[in-house]
Amino acid sequence: MKSSKTIVLLTTVWVLFSLTACTQEKTKINATNDMENTQTEKIVKTDEQWKKELSPEQYFVLRQKGTERPFTGELLMNKEKGVYKCAACGNELFTDEMKFDSHCGWPSFDKEISGGKIKTIKDTTHGMIRTEIICAKCDGHLGHLFDDGPTETGMRYCVNSLSLEFVKKENVKKTENNSTKTLLLGGGCYWCVEAVYEMLDGVVKVESGFSGGKVKNPSYEEVCSGNTGHAEVVKITYDPSKTSFEEILKVFFTVHDPTTLNRQGADVGTQYRSVIYYNNEQEKQSANEIINELNKAKVYSSPIVTEVSLVGEFYKAKDDHQNYYQQNKEQGYCRMVIKPKVEKFEKVFKDRMKK
Ligand SMILES: [Zn+2]
Repeated sequence: MKSSKTIVLLTTVWVLFSLTACTQEKTKINATNDMENTQTEKIVKTDEQWKKELSPEQYFVLRQKGTERPFTGELLMNKEKGVYKCAACGNELFTDEMKFDSHCGWPSFDKEISGGKIKTIKDTTHGMIRTEIICAKCDGHLGHLFDDGPTETGMRYCVNSLSLEFVKKENVKKTENNSTKTLLLGGGCYWCVEAVYEMLDGVVKVESGFSGGKVKNPSYEEVCSGNTGHAEVVKITYDPSKTSFEEILKVFFTVHDPTTLNRQGADVGTQYRSVIYYNNEQEKQSANEIINELNKAKVYSSPIVTEVSLVGEFYKAKDDHQNYYQQNKEQGYCRMVIKPKVEKFEKVFKDRMKK
């Protein structure tokens, strides 16, 4: 579908959205930086809850004291400016200035952010005496601490990439003042949808996972069987002062086909259904209005079959299913299926892309 008809269609989508979009919500930024308050509030969750919130690999490392294979971590070579947080609870542990290249295969730091954010425990497993480091807030396993560091501190915090979440400097404020919102959307294969939203300005984070089914903590294989009732979805965390629910839906209706029931292209099954999981009545109304307008204007040749349902549990997918397009650009599916969607986004939303 790369005809002038497509362009006309997309322009119509765009215009309709401008008409239906509400005035963008402006959030006041009352950042109260609690630097003096170093008291660490404990976070206690059941195993069941942790399993839900963490990917299976993160769960293995953070909750079962596992170790990721050396030289595999996503943050190993990361040299961007920002803050490294505990991936389980968001506790700020390190900054980019504390990171150094230790060649040991895991992200290494020579000091921690002060305030007792990290606890040490004597670890006698594997026939060695080592110092284990855990997050003081959630007790999540981080890695080990050694006194052979090459910098002036002499310390080496050897941390699993999976235990960390990196927040770029420009995004730190946004997540700190809790002004972000989230939205779960299903538009077929989550890799496609994730790749597109990663580029939209105002989007802080996109995670791939599952929602809308009957089983707890489903695996990818279980979801693929079509028996669990889950849809492949993305969880979009966004800054409402930069983008909006309406704009996110505008992108949604541009980059996937909302008229094919339980199907996107060659991907067939209920797990590929088109679905919007609203958080409140206002979002529900807004989503339905947009769908009605698009139907009325016959933007698509067939009626929209997108499901609009109340948000439920989100289960994050495996780590090698996150950022799939970025990591596997040369792979066949990425080139054939994802790349055209990314290019479509770049064309239609070129003014709305992250700088
Ligand atoms: Zn933590």
